This record gives sequence, structure tokens and C-alpha cells, in this order.
Amino acid sequence: MTALPDLSATICALATPPGEGAIGVIRVSGPRALEVVQPLVPRLVLSDLSSHTLHLVKLRESSGELLDEAVLSLYLAPRSYTREDVIELSCHGSPYVLRRVLELLIAAGARAAQPGEFTLRAYLNGALDLSQAEAVADLVAARSQQSQRLALSQLRGGYATRLKEMRERLVGFTALVELELDFGEEDVEFARRDELRALVQTMATELDRLVTSFAAGNALKSGIPTVIAGRPNAGKSTLLNRLLGDARAIVSPIAGTTRDVIEDRLLLGGAEFRLMDTAGLREGTGDVIEAEGIARSRARVAEALVVLYVYDATLQSEAEAQAELDALELAPEARSFLLANKADQAFPQTNSIALPISALTGAGVEALEQRLAALALELGDTDTLVTNARHVEALKASREALSGVIAALEAQRSTELLAEDLRHALHELGRITGEVTPDEVLGVIFSKFCIGK
Ligand code: GDP
Repeated sequence: MTALPDLSATICALATPPGEGAIGVIRVSGPRALEVVQPLVPRLVLSDLSSHTLHLVKLRESSGELLDEAVLSLYLAPRSYTREDVIELSCHGSPYVLRRVLELLIAAGARAAQPGEFTLRAYLNGALDLSQAEAVADLVAARSQQSQRLALSQLRGGYATRLKEMRERLVGFTALVELELDFGEEDVEFARRDELRALVQTMATELDRLVTSFAAGNALKSGIPTVIAGRPNAGKSTLLNRLLGDARAIVSPIAGTTRDVIEDRLLLGGAEFRLMDTAGLREGTGDVIEAEGIARSRARVAEALVVLYVYDATLQSEAEAQAELDALELAPEARSFLLANKADQAFPQTNSIALPISALTGAGVEALEQRLAALALELGDTDTLVTNARHVEALKASREALSGVIAALEAQRSTELLAEDLRHALHELGRITGEVTPDEVLGVIFSKFCIGK
């Protein structure tokens, strides 16, 4: 869906996952919600019922034959999720019954909803702003406590509220600057330049902070990219298996067995870690496939937020391993851990900053897990984190536009040029919460939702 669907229609969809279940919920929304459900409940007069009430009903075929017993909930406009008349039918979760109910609703004049169409309506009818609507999708997709928390904070307004307040103030200033333009030749100044400048500076600082927070926000939402790196045979696959608690990666005593990148997910500290085992990093291998694996490993290391550098403490000194870790190209915000593996066979080191572990026996692995959990909590500690790629783009563009305003103020450019920079900045800021959003963009955003939401 890139163009927006017809919003005057009454829509219906299954709101619970497809397949068998104890209960399956069908949602209906739109001006004719009561009319399209009415034929299924011939013994009840839906228009007589009050809003926010539940009814045990018998759903019937047009022949009168009983189809299911269900609970009908009624939410009359505007006190509903979409702000339209909404009916939810909690049926028995039989794929046949649910399909049949949808068929009957469509026969009565409803249309099958497109993905995200309920939330799109909620947004267009003013129940949610755009960033809140996106948060609904994030919340539905949340698989860890941290991602759930972030989505919920965005759903409650989050940083969008503050941005909106600041944008409102900027609108005020812009109106005054535009007014100055109306006075044409006369040399008037309604908008205090020092106040305008202070506001724009505050906004710029806030935007910079939000843009930077995306690395952590994205990691917490989609899983913290965590790479296990080290020389072949250091014990990387064994560590991965130990952390995941199963035999996910193939362990073998032949150096260079892990040729590709294996990925799995691990929950620690209420956050999801995307654990990646990599081909061992060693130079001068003649094997083309292994060389490709090593190139991929380096690319993964460069993108990781957490790097677990494993070395074989029976073969290598800590200083040597540390030097290998230092030589890797890491992302600026990445955290690395040096792990002295095979501690079951190595002599304990004094003054070590490496964490001694035995991937084989599990010794020391709990301490590593605690460090990772602490890191996850620390990442999520900031009050506002940006988790949405679209927002970061809009924030960066807004920041740039604000630089334009600052430059215009500093160079004391003409009021015309200042007004233009201000309008540009307002436009970019408005994209985040959806004050300014072309239909195609909406189409793309909502098409990523699941049907029934
Ligand atoms: P990778 O190439 O880094 O993935 O290494 P593997 O996980 O395949 O391990 C290489 C060899 O080291 C295997 O024979 C493992 O059983 C052994 N190994 C891994 N971890 C330990 C450990 O903590 N102690 C001992 N003694 N052997 C280990």
C-alpha cells in the first residue's frame, strides 16, 4: 500500500494470529460497523446497545444456522481505538469459524482491512500522532523487556512531546518573522533575535543528543549486535553454545571450521543480544572460502556494539590477545570484552583485565553474562532513546535546517532568507510527529504493520 486506502469504508480483519487458538478476535471499524455485524446477530438490535458493553451472542449464517457463540464488544465513536464505531467479536479460535465470520461481514458490506489500517485511522482521526502509531507497531513486535519499555515510552509521547512543544514555540517566532515581512519597507523587528537564537540552540542540542542515542536505541529495539571474535580454535563456537545452552554452532578441533557467520538471540538484562559467531580471524590463509568468511567477520566486527574477543589462554599471552583486539576496527560506540578462554587448563594470570572463562566447563561464563546484563541496563538508562530509523533521518534533516537558521541569524541575513530557513526547519521537524507527512510516506509506514492492527 503506497497510496492510502479508501478511509470511508468499513473494514474488518482478524486481530489475533492466524491458525487455531482458544479465541480468535475479529475487529470491525467504520461508519457502518453496526450494520455489517447486524445480520450475524439477528436476535439482537445493535443500535439499541450502549457503548463499552460486552454481550454474549450467537453468530448465525444468513440461513439462521448457528455458526458460533462469541463475545461482542461495542465501542461507539469517538470512544474507540480508531475513533470510529468499533465492534470486536471474540470467537472460538477455529480457522473455519473465523474465515466464515469475515466472509459474512464482507458479504454485508465490509472490506478486508489492509495492514496497519486500524492504526492509520487512529492516526488520521487524531487519536495518535505518527510517532505514537509507529510505537504501536514496535510494541506489537517487542520481544524483550527493554524493547517493550522503549515502545511504550514512545507510545506515551516520549521525545515527540518535547519536540512538539519546541516546534510550537518556533512556529510562534516564525509567525512574527513573517509579520515583519508584511511590513515590507519599514524596519521593524517583532521577533526578538536573541530569544529566537537561544531557542534554536536548545533545539539543536536536543536534536544532536537524540541522533546520537539511535545507536543504543536501535540496539535495544532490534537486539544488541554482539560478535564473538578471535583466532581459530580459541573456543568461539564453544562459547556461543555455552551462552545459548545448546549445540547451535558446530564445534570441531580443526582450525577454521566456522566459515560463515552464525547468529542467534540471547536475553540478558531484559535486552536481546544478537550473538554472532564468526570465522576465526587469522592472516595468510590459502583457502578462498575461509578468506571470504574472515572478510565477513571483519565487517561484522566493525558493525557490532559488543565484541567478545576470545583467546586461548593456554597458547597466548593476554598482552598479545589485547594487541589483536586493539588492531580490530570497531565502531566508535562499541564495547569490547577480552576473554581468556580455556582457563580450566591455563595458569591463572595476575593483574589481568581479561575475564578468565572456560567455555568448555562453563566456569566464568556467568560473570560474563552479568557484565552483558549490566551493559544492557546501562544502554537503556537514558530517559529518551530514538529507536526509529525514519525519525533519525528526520531529526538529522531538522538539525541541518536549524544550522541554516543559526547561520542566518549569525550573518544577520535578510528577514526573507531567515523566514525561509525557519519554514524549512519547521517542515523537517513536523515530519517526525506527522504534522507534515505526504501520503506515500504514510502508506509505507503503515504497510509494515500486521493486519488487524
Ligand atoms: P573456534 O574455532 O574458536 O570456534 O573454537 P571451537 O569452539 O571450535 O573450539 C576449539 C577446540 O577448543 C575444541 O576442541 C573445543 O572443545 C576446545 N575448547 C573450547 N573451549 C575450551 C575450554 O574452555 N577449555 C578447553 N580445555 N578446551 C576448550
